Amino acid sequence: MMAVASGVSLADHNTLGLQASAEWFASVRNREELDAALNFASERQLPVRALGEGSNVILHPRLPGLVLHMATRGVQLRKDDGRRALLRCAAGENWHQLVLWCCEQGLHGLENLALIPGSVGAAPVQNIGAYGVELSEHVVGVEVVDVASGAVEYLPAGDCGFGYRTSRFKQAGGENLLITAVDLRLDREASLCWDYPSLKAALNNTSPTPEELMQTVMAVRTQRLPDPAVVPNVGSFFKNPIVSADFAETLGTRYPALPVYPAAAGSTKLSAAWMIDQLGWRGRGQRVVAVSEAHSLVLVNRGADTAEAVLALASAIQASVLDEFGVALELEPQLLGEAGD
Ligand code: NAP
Repeated sequence: MMAVASGVSLADHNTLGLQASAEWFASVRNREELDAALNFASERQLPVRALGEGSNVILHPRLPGLVLHMATRGVQLRKDDGRRALLRCAAGENWHQLVLWCCEQGLHGLENLALIPGSVGAAPVQNIGAYGVELSEHVVGVEVVDVASGAVEYLPAGDCGFGYRTSRFKQAGGENLLITAVDLRLDREASLCWDYPSLKAALNNTSPTPEELMQTVMAVRTQRLPDPAVVPNVGSFFKNPIVSADFAETLGTRYPALPVYPAAAGSTKLSAAWMIDQLGWRGRGQRVVAVSEAHSLVLVNRGADTAEAVLALASAIQASVLDEFGVALELEPQLLGEAGD
């Protein structure tokens, strides 16, 4: 039986470990519970906000309205012609467990996305990506529920507005679409992507099996990225900026060591980590929040209760990068809720 509770602490529902409280909170395990929760919200005209595992959010102290924790489970193999397969995955499934399961089943394509924290339903929101693979390459479509009308819709991948670490679910209006399931296309015959320098080095330049690639991704990530279960964090705090090729070229003449990569539509991706490192931020910060010693894109929470301290450090980093490089860094995680008094 689904229960809607009031004034629920979200401290255990965000990997940054911030103190926050949901005005109303419900954990839903199936369609009936979801419908009941949406009715509850609609009767009281409450805004609704979905929360997966809270691994890519920065929470303000108060989240007004109903916070819906998606706890639906289930993975179905809907088609499999021996070459390609189509999977339907419930939003509440854990992403990394899905990646492990797929590899075990001989369903390939997700190996590079192993160990990314969070739920399946949250994965399309920021179009998770790592080591040259993006989720959107494998999404066939996404099932959503419109929180205002309760209507179920199916959005083919082309309607999801996928971009670099973004999607229509992250844009204005997107918060009204609750992702309930994700359809993924996977390959029986693996075509693996292992040309990121860190992977290549760990693989000694030797072509891996899918299992070896996945294990290597896990080993490299574990070495470089602090585990949110041990040190509260939300992974990369900033996106790599995408700029025009001309701007990147000019910047490159001033900073020849700045890593640049070709990006979509003739633009160029700059390394945010390099710029932050260059300005000496690694390991620095305040007592309660700091830039990780291991990775300068990650902010680690050492005791901050509220988003304020975290955002203050992020703003200081953004200001110094803007000042030195003329580049505006965007936050990667989503900021939710109200600051309060
Ligand atoms: P890395 O392999 O040391 O590479 C450093 C940066 O260079 C990355 O940001 C990556 O961009 C870029 N890069 C490297 N080789 C590239 C190539 N061949 N083509 C295009 N771009 C290239 O990266 P890392 O910091 O250890 O992270 C490894 C991967 O995990 C990255 O893809 C990163 O995005 C992903 N990751 C994501 C999060 C998150 O919270 N979203 C957190 C940690 C790591 P990209 O970032 O665009 O790939």
